[in-house]
Amino acid sequence: MITPNKAFEIITASILPLNPVIKPLSDSHGFILSENIHADSDLPSTDRSAMDGFAVRAEDLVHCPCSLQLIGEVAAGSPIKVEVLPETCVRILTGAAVPSGADTVVKIEDTEESGDKITFHKFPGFGSNIRKRGEESFKGDLLLDKGTVLDAIDIGLCASVGKAKLKVFSKPGVAVICTGAELRKPEDSVQSHQIRDSNGPSLVSALRSFGFTDVIHKIVLDDVGLISKELASFAKTHEVILITGGVSVGKYDYVPKAVKNIGATIRFHGVSMKPGKPLLYAALSKNRHIFGLPGNPLSVMTGFYEFVLPSIKLLSGIPADKCRTSFYLPLSKSIKPKKDRVNHVIAKLIGNSNGTTVEPLKYRGSADLTSGSNADGVIIVPTGEQEISVNSIVEFRPWRTIL
Ligand code: AMP
Ligand code: MG
Repeated sequence: MITPNKAFEIITASILPLNPVIKPLSDSHGFILSENIHADSDLPSTDRSAMDGFAVRAEDLVHCPCSLQLIGEVAAGSPIKVEVLPETCVRILTGAAVPSGADTVVKIEDTEESGDKITFHKFPGFGSNIRKRGEESFKGDLLLDKGTVLDAIDIGLCASVGKAKLKVFSKPGVAVICTGAELRKPEDSVQSHQIRDSNGPSLVSALRSFGFTDVIHKIVLDDVGLISKELASFAKTHEVILITGGVSVGKYDYVPKAVKNIGATIRFHGVSMKPGKPLLYAALSKNRHIFGLPGNPLSVMTGFYEFVLPSIKLLSGIPADKCRTSFYLPLSKSIKPKKDRVNHVIAKLIGNSNGTTVEPLKYRGSADLTSGSNADGVIIVPTGEQEISVNSIVEFRPWRTIL
């Protein structure tokens, strides 16, 4: 059995991004850039007004209050036709290019208008209220790195520099296979020897919430032939296969055998963590990855957030140092973990004006979805810890998108 750190190392060393594709900007949200984006011109491309007001020559306002003659107007979108001459001013609207001759904009609130005379009450200082050409960046500057996860602001930035199409990494398709003779669908009635499959719906929704929409889900009986057949068939169409249940050492745990049957190489099987120890990772080819997760729902989610989601992010082009997030936060209640393995303790964030702490949740084992639904993530407790006292800083792995 290997440590969780070693397991993560194996994954990050062996999973490479999928090939890039060209996408229209409007379809690129949530994809990962596979090119660098540079400024196509200075930003702003010319001096622009940051206010509605009047463009002036600062030297004309040294003896404020004073009046200047209004000789024209320049609005956003209108080409400049006027020049600000001595003792004159030009009406200017936010976003308009500053006309030549002017070096300062006085906001409208500090002026008074009477016919073509504008009275200035205050001098705002030389160069005020002007966004200078190139103050954000200069032509050719790097704006977004390869590996950036494109969010709304990034999409806007790309639009502003004329990138109507982007080179992004493809996202993997994911097949979720849930094994177990006891499993029924949510809509089915169940007898006492049966349970409803919760892992499938959980994993599908987790994947969708992270922008992976090419997802398929199937329930399969504990039968080595059937499991092998489904694995082989999904390996033709999907880059990643998640298989839950049947991955341990029980009589009906056929997943490791089925994985070998289809010719995949098991890279690890067994990680010294709690819950989720029997976790398995196998590679069938460069772009075909199989994760076996022990069936209890919280073991599944622990393995998913620790290893599977980071792997899917790696395939999607997110760099290894950014494919998994930790926060370091003070603990609100002490915990007594099991010493022999890395413990993942479900926990809730408690935030108030004094800051955010993390509170371990009571739970009744790795099948306890009821407690799990109150969790924002897990506290990761290293091996060998006896007790972690209140206010200790702990590593917290988020499971929810925290806005
Ligand atoms: P296994 O890993 O197959 O030994 O399963 C461990 C436990 O998880 C058993 O109690 C199973 O009934 C339960 N389990 C397995 N698969 C699922 C599933 N898809 N949804 C909910 N519970 C499951
Ligand atoms: Mg089973």
